Amino acid sequence: MKNIKEVVAWRLCVGCGACKYICPQSKITLVNIVDQGIRPVIEEVEQCNSCTDCLKVCPGLETIYSEAFSVHGFIPNLKAGFGTVIEVWEGYAANKDIRYNGSSGGLASALALYCIKEKGMHGALHIAASKDEPWRNETVLSQTFSDILARTGSRYAPASPCDSLMKIEAAPAPCVFIGKPCDVAGLRKAQMLRSALNENVGVAIGIFCAGTPSTMGTFELLKHYKIDPKTVSEIRYRGKGWPGMFRVLLRGETSPSFYEASYRESWGFLNNYRPYRCYLCPDGTSEFADISCGDPWYREVSEDELGFSLVLVRTEKGREIVQGALKAGYVVLKKSDPKILQDSQKNLLLKRGAIWGRLMAMKMFGIPTPRLQGFSLFSNWCGLPALDQIRSALGTVRRILTRKYFRPMKDY
Ligand SMILES: Cc1cc2nc3c(=O)[nH]c(=O)nc-3n(C[C@H](O)[C@H](O)[C@H](O)COP(=O)(O)OP(=O)(O)OC[C@H]3O[C@@H](n4cnc5c(N)ncnc54)[C@H](O)[C@@H]3O)c2cc1C
Ligand code: SF4
Ligand code: SF4
Repeated sequence: MKNIKEVVAWRLCVGCGACKYICPQSKITLVNIVDQGIRPVIEEVEQCNSCTDCLKVCPGLETIYSEAFSVHGFIPNLKAGFGTVIEVWEGYAANKDIRYNGSSGGLASALALYCIKEKGMHGALHIAASKDEPWRNETVLSQTFSDILARTGSRYAPASPCDSLMKIEAAPAPCVFIGKPCDVAGLRKAQMLRSALNENVGVAIGIFCAGTPSTMGTFELLKHYKIDPKTVSEIRYRGKGWPGMFRVLLRGETSPSFYEASYRESWGFLNNYRPYRCYLCPDGTSEFADISCGDPWYREVSEDELGFSLVLVRTEKGREIVQGALKAGYVVLKKSDPKILQDSQKNLLLKRGAIWGRLMAMKMFGIPTPRLQGFSLFSNWCGLPALDQIRSALGTVRRILTRKYFRPMKDY
């Protein structure tokens, strides 16, 4: 591929935004394609100097998990399904507002806050809802407790935190980065290309991710509940309890009026709007991060639970930050049996197992596939029940034919 225009045309883009940050001619802008996600557009592509920096940072085109990311003492049983994990913890943010508002236990936010308040980091680059159009996300640098608190919670809509890596590069001190697995992969690639960025990434905190629904998902969900997007002033996809509710606040009313739906119902609806590239994503748990946070779904959640997160420590830096936050009282954690990770994320394991077959089906049709290495894809495929192997490969063939994935998208 010559540039990221082709990556997008072949539906390989994951919308991380790293290409916008890296382009030395600032020729890349990002657009939100309502039924797909955030995608780059190269202005005056004929004047592009063909440096290929955009391709070099692109996790959509290539994601390689090299042994260079591994550290000693990783948990062998978790490696094939979840990458390098050296410790598994379960717990929550010590601050009750962060815990209550957080997606699971508010740990991503609490760890970021510790890094800012106690480790001298300048801020946290992450995602917030747009004030004007709450179904849209934007990248922000949070520096205070109230900033961090306001940005807690998962946003099941396109987000591209790597689009603003310049803010980390230009910051007077190292910063926290929070993003999905593909965002963290984009960050790491950009770090390899830009030493000024590399020096200023204090820690990368990744969240677990099964796929990002397009904006169409949110629009259709609002329509399903007969809500006009123009009347909406706030959307929360979850949080305020665990797993929390999909919650819409309407604007222009004298007393605030809310619409609420259960997490099961709203995610059950939204997950149908994930782009196909997410079905080819092996990294559901942010393997390139120093610390990963997800839901401990291994047990039933009772109605009055305030929230718990799983925390995976992946690097020595991650270990130091988790221990420091624990000692300083920012988080409440207990070491867990590594087995709870497998029990918590069965869907992510099933998805990883299906990828090898999906890629083979695409190759049979001559469709470009992402280059994925170091994720034990073949051995994960071999571990998948035969029925699931057949179902996922045939499902891919059906999608290729019905959605015409055998040819590139013309315009976007
Ligand atoms: C698209 C998506 C898919 C998910 N799939 C899974 C899954 O399969 N399994 C699972 O266990 N959990 C999943 N989650 C939930 C999430 O990984 C966990 O809840 C995690 O534990 C973080 O919770 P927390 O309370 O520690 O984070 P919080 O303290 O609430 O912080 C959340 C952080 O995530 C950032 N963020 C929110 N939405 C996005 C986004 N779309 N892109 C980038 N950054 C974002 C926020 O800016 C904030 O910094 C998903 C979340 C998203 C956004
Ligand atoms: S760098 Fe990110 S946003 Fe740009 S084309 Fe690749 S995946 Fe898409
Ligand atoms: S499933 Fe993978 S590619 Fe899709 S949004 Fe999540 S991390 Fe990115």
